[in-house]
Amino acid sequence: MTATAVAPAATAPATPLDDARSQLADAARVLGLSEGMERMLATPRREVTVSIPLRRDDGSQDLLLGHRVQHNFSRGPAKGGIRFSPHVDLDEVRALAMWMTWKCALLDVPYGGAKGGVRIDPRAYSTAELERVTRRFTSEILPVIGPERDIPAPDIGTDERTMAWMMDTYSVNKGHTVLGVVTGKPVSLGGSLGRASSTSRGVVDVALAALASRGVTVEGSTAAVQGFGKVGRGAARFLADAGVRVVAASDQYGAVTRAGGLDVAALEAHVDAAGTVVGFDGGDELDAPALLELDVDLLVPAAVEGVLTAENAPRVRARVVVEGANGPTTPEADAILADAGALVVPDILANAGGVVVSYFEWVQANQAYWWTQQEVEDRLRHRMLGAWDAVRGYAADKDLSLRTAATAMAVERVAAAHALRGLYP
Ligand code: GLU
Repeated sequence: MTATAVAPAATAPATPLDDARSQLADAARVLGLSEGMERMLATPRREVTVSIPLRRDDGSQDLLLGHRVQHNFSRGPAKGGIRFSPHVDLDEVRALAMWMTWKCALLDVPYGGAKGGVRIDPRAYSTAELERVTRRFTSEILPVIGPERDIPAPDIGTDERTMAWMMDTYSVNKGHTVLGVVTGKPVSLGGSLGRASSTSRGVVDVALAALASRGVTVEGSTAAVQGFGKVGRGAARFLADAGVRVVAASDQYGAVTRAGGLDVAALEAHVDAAGTVVGFDGGDELDAPALLELDVDLLVPAAVEGVLTAENAPRVRARVVVEGANGPTTPEADAILADAGALVVPDILANAGGVVVSYFEWVQANQAYWWTQQEVEDRLRHRMLGAWDAVRGYAADKDLSLRTAATAMAVERVAAAHALRGLYP
């Protein structure tokens, strides 16, 4: 055997699923869950893996891989986004599905958790090809989705157009229009006003409350936002609207910074034209990983999982970290940040605004009765701040981190529903 032999599994890098299970284990310890209950909650109820044969525009044929993982149904139909990314793998989807279960339970939305993904780089495909991928993926998972079974939504690499194609494919197969099968649809097609901005709004509602809890006043406060997509872009805008100085923003291509605060509206116009924050003349170029280590009051990681790690966490100087992304902080980084006195507001609380308004959309679609944008935003803020207060109270009572408190509260609700329903047969 040589020194380059395959490393033993114990030294393999932790996956998002390892992180999610470690967070569940912390919650299980706090709650004194039985081993059987913990094992049940650590494991998805159902997983579907499908092949997606794709006819390319040039006539050749590709074969893509897709997954839909339904982690839990104890409190209602499964719910969660569909991700189109070259990094999709089954363990990542399992972790994201588990986090959806906790998110829905924590916000008291009557759903379980699910997630889906297709391993594809959407930027390398035409719109017509993406439509064929979406429709074939939808038809492959059709037997397990539906407004009472499992309700997909957008995630990384997908958007309201993707949801329109999914809704149409499902409806054509059923023989009638089924608006409630997906959320995050276009407003003209049964979507909800306020859904597109809901995750960002929720992030900012909670971020402002978290800053206040640390005695940081909005005037003079600073923020750095990693990611300028569906979550980060709106978060930067709403933070700036609230008076927070957004001193840095990044995307997968690079980062920009301006100590006096970026003009977020001008940055958005630049991104619309150039497709990236890079090259924005209202700021200086910044090495993207350095954004996470800026001396700011608030850091919003709003891109992908696993960006705050044991390696860089000792250099993070933000007083408050609000997780716009799912799973951006590894358990090792969590411990380092806690020791350093930073407050981490966990994903299942911070970015839950998206699924809360997805729930509002599903309720509106099922009743065919639509709310105003103001009603949606007021109800969203009420839920977000209610959950923030509840998690803070629970954490203070039991001397826990916000993450362990939030996870324990959610797990307790799911475990209680499971126990009440009983085990069949
Ligand atoms: N993909 C979003 C999330 O991670 C929204 C899911 C949904 O609305 O179902 O929370």
